[in-house]
Amino acid sequence: KEDAEYLVSLVRSVPGFPKEGIIFRDFMPVIADPRGLQILIAAIAETLPVAPEQFDAVAGLESRGFLFGPILAAQLGKGFIAVRKAGKLPPETIGESYDLEYGTASVEIETSAVAHGERVLIVDDLIATGGTAKAAADLIEKAGGKVAGFSFVMRLNGLDGIDKLGDVPVTSLISMP
Ligand code: IMP
Repeated sequence: KEDAEYLVSLVRSVPGFPKEGIIFRDFMPVIADPRGLQILIAAIAETLPVAPEQFDAVAGLESRGFLFGPILAAQLGKGFIAVRKAGKLPPETIGESYDLEYGTASVEIETSAVAHGERVLIVDDLIATGGTAKAAADLIEKAGGKVAGFSFVMRLNGLDGIDKLGDVPVTSLISMP
């Protein structure tokens, strides 16, 4: 409980970023803090949506999923899959696009990044509308993998992000207004 409060206290809230009316929730101070980083990794490992035997790899979403995903993967004895934003990887890649408020975005992985039938835990710092996480999940499945679950550090209340992810188990450490 004390640890959970400490984690929440480290999250920085930035009103008006990236635009008017939005409060950006920044978890970088959690990572920057020695105790915060240890609590973060331990807390994610303790609240996994499925047992570690139920998945083979951890996939992190660019960019902040890259900051703790590999640490978690190493601790669990898994490999790490980087789900990139579009245009960052050399060929051959496969992609999945999704709708933003204005326009679309895409996520990409290398064609061989996911082994056939590989069971993958998807991690990211925050789920808002769920569009990014859903696209990443569709991409993993398109690549031949199976999504075992999702772990988020934060979820935004009042958005139906988690509902968008279907029947796959989801956990998040902190719920933000
Ligand atoms: P969604 O696709 O609407 O669920 O947005 C989630 C994606 O946008 C994640 O990759 C987050 O890193 C990023 N994101 C959206 N809002 C925030 C925020 O307040 N803080 C940090 N990241 C955010």
